[in-house]
Amino acid sequence: MAVIRDVMPAFELVQPTSAAEAQKILEQNGSDALILAGGMDSFDWLKDRIKRPKVVVDLSGVDELKGVRTVADGIEIGAMTTLTEIVNNETIKQKYGLLAQAAELVASPQIRNQGTIGGNVSQDARCWYYRSGWPCYRAGGNICYADDPDGRNREHAILHADRCVAVNPSDSASLDCSRCEGCHAHTKRRACR
Ligand SMILES: Cc1cc2nc3c(=O)[nH]c(=O)nc-3n(C[C@H](O)[C@H](O)[C@H](O)COP(=O)(O)OP(=O)(O)OC[C@H]3O[C@@H](n4cnc5c(N)ncnc54)[C@H](O)[C@@H]3O)c2cc1C
Ligand code: SF4
Repeated sequence: MAVIRDVMPAFELVQPTSAAEAQKILEQNGSDALILAGGMDSFDWLKDRIKRPKVVVDLSGVDELKGVRTVADGIEIGAMTTLTEIVNNETIKQKYGLLAQAAELVASPQIRNQGTIGGNVSQDARCWYYRSGWPCYRAGGNICYADDPDGRNREHAILHADRCVAVNPSDSASLDCSRCEGCHAHTKRRACR
């Protein structure tokens, strides 16, 4: 359970300047490392002391992960591109309008200015139990506290769920996956598996 809030546990902060360097650090540290993008989700986990990584890998200095590029078969969006850039990008607006619209649904202008597309699709489940440190399925335990008539499960996916009934909270990820027919993962309507 989270008892101390707003005081982050100590960690080593590393600030790579290339994707190759970042990848190497992540491989070296495995599950001891946490990627930091815009911090809109990660800072909450750190402040609540639920996630206690030994190493935080800040990608804000990796310029090659920023921006939208046109390539032969479409576009490439760097993971560190902000949601605001996606909302305002002319190519995305013209050719991939649904993505621009989905990104614009995210939270508020301040969060979209800071939050990145990589962080948005990778953000963790917004389940009250999980975020408070309860040892549920998603946290490696063997129970789901929300999958119960008395559980706090508003906006979860009771139908078609397997173990964890929390849905993926990302507006932009649900857009990506709604294109894959038969894919039951990562949609806002279904639980992630
Ligand atoms: C008040 C509030 C309201 C919100 N409302 C919405 C909403 O309506 N819709 C919505 O979709 N989202 C919403 N969010 C979530 C918010 O959009 C995300 O938290 C944000 O987009 C995360 O982006 P970030 O760059 O800050 O990532 P971070 O918080 O830095 O990272 C998020 C997670 O992704 C991982 N990660 C980041 N980048 C990468 C990468 N390149 N590769 C692998 N893993 C990575 C991090 O390790 C972390 O686990 C809300 C958040 C807040 C605080
Ligand atoms: S829905 Fe259940 S398993 Fe999923 S995060 Fe919440 S309590 Fe954990």
